[in-house]
Amino acid sequence: MSKKTTDSVLYWIRSDLRIFDNLALWEAAKTNKKIIVIYIKNLTSKESTDNLALNTWINKSLQELSERYKELYNIKLKVYNDDIYQVIGAIHKETNFTDIYINTTFDPEVDKIDAKLASKFNNSFTVNSYNSSLLFKPNEILNNSGDFFKVYTPFWKKALSKLSLREPLPIPKINSVYKGNILSIKELKITPPNKIWQKKILEHFTPGELSARQILKNTYEKISGYSENRDFPIKNNTSQLSPYLARGELSVNEIFFSIKKNKNKIKSNDYNKFTAQLGWREFSYNILYNFPNLSSKNFISKFDNFPWKKNETNFQKWRDGNTGFPIVDAGMRELKATGYMHNRLRMIVASFLVKNLNISWVFGAKWFWENLFDADVANNFAGWQWVAGCGTDASPYFRIFNPTLQSTRFDKEGKYIRKWIPELKDLPSKYIHAPWEMTDLELVGFNVRLGKDYPRPIVDHKTTRDEALKNYKKMNNLNE
Ligand SMILES: Cc1cc2nc3c(=O)[nH]c(=O)nc-3n(C[C@H](O)[C@H](O)[C@H](O)COP(=O)(O)OP(=O)(O)OC[C@H]3O[C@@H](n4cnc5c(N)ncnc54)[C@H](O)[C@@H]3O)c2cc1C
Repeated sequence: MSKKTTDSVLYWIRSDLRIFDNLALWEAAKTNKKIIVIYIKNLTSKESTDNLALNTWINKSLQELSERYKELYNIKLKVYNDDIYQVIGAIHKETNFTDIYINTTFDPEVDKIDAKLASKFNNSFTVNSYNSSLLFKPNEILNNSGDFFKVYTPFWKKALSKLSLREPLPIPKINSVYKGNILSIKELKITPPNKIWQKKILEHFTPGELSARQILKNTYEKISGYSENRDFPIKNNTSQLSPYLARGELSVNEIFFSIKKNKNKIKSNDYNKFTAQLGWREFSYNILYNFPNLSSKNFISKFDNFPWKKNETNFQKWRDGNTGFPIVDAGMRELKATGYMHNRLRMIVASFLVKNLNISWVFGAKWFWENLFDADVANNFAGWQWVAGCGTDASPYFRIFNPTLQSTRFDKEGKYIRKWIPELKDLPSKYIHAPWEMTDLELVGFNVRLGKDYPRPIVDHKTTRDEALKNYKKMNNLNE
């Protein structure tokens, strides 16, 4: 028989898969009431079973978190895969908890759920929500006219002038846990990854708070040279903290705090450039908050008339890394193999899809969403709209990347390409960026038969570039 009490509170984990520097958990612990901890899977429409990478990450991370809750507090972390109102209603009926503690995710779909939560249950409990995932709440940083910033540089300048970091919170002391038998509607089995694919993809990252904290310890060293090298994928000079930030295994407050603490060991250029990237994340959330349809609608609405192509064959080749443009294919293969892609590559492959293949950014963003470990509801869609030229402060549409020049510039010796496209590994650096510039006979000397071992380019850069510019002009004329 379960015991109904009025001295329990519920801490509901969402995009905050951590115990350290966790405001909602900290505040829940301060109540000294009995704590119930839950996680509900598939909270929003964007979390589907197609998201293999995301699901693999979350399952692994939850598994570790659940073990730590047990070890630290003897709390059984309950994981549900059911309708949220059913879950919360059932737990409330059983325990009569007085309060829910949550960290706001700033995902507009989740915000809607949060806003309705208390009233759905006739205000029979209080919802306490905290900002534990951003440096600033969206709309905290506004321009002089009280409007949100559409341009990054003044946004970040103003944000920095108001920045006040918190000393990161330690692991809270939890004195009392709810020992009743919380009704489990259908407990999700958190199974360790067993498929070959899952094992392979996890060779590159270890999900979970403990691993995140380990990486953070050395981040100030890892980003030495960041301002010069961050655009060169093979240099591996970026933090690779994005999956941990996206799933809330680390708080941005703690990352910034830790970098600031080590400021005297970091060159000022590296410090400024790295923290500015954290600023882009803040900026993306600022956009998302003011434009909740960011994942599907063009921020600049004239792009609604853009004559996109529907070419499933080319889209498939892009997804598989078989476009015949080595730098694009290397990026797409890195994504598939590791659940991650370097930022420079994200820009190159996105530009190629949108401006050379003329396929709408919405499809590319969905593919990224389904395959990135760091899939982030603000950064992903703001990133795509930025590349496509239809977002705020976006790279103008008419600035079209030449993939071959990008490749020569950011992977001069082709080391990154050789890593992900082993069939091209013997090509001389001069030709690895554009193997089609060699004759078939020359290529054979380097063990490559174009069209057999590696595809011929699926489009011509110059022709598709001209077509893109024409389309852009047409769109502008339509909107005049
Ligand atoms: C088309 C496209 C899609 C993207 N999708 C995502 C995504 O789903 N999730 C995601 O976290 N980032 C996304 N980004 C931004 C960026 O590519 C990644 O954050 C970065 O590559 C992560 O690597 P890192 O942790 O080593 O970054 P670092 O260079 O070490 O930067 C530190 C942190 O700053 C933030 N950051 C860095 N660059 C950006 C940026 N341009 N915009 C916003 N935040 C940034 C990230 O949280 C990152 O972890 C996307 C960019 C583009 C162009």
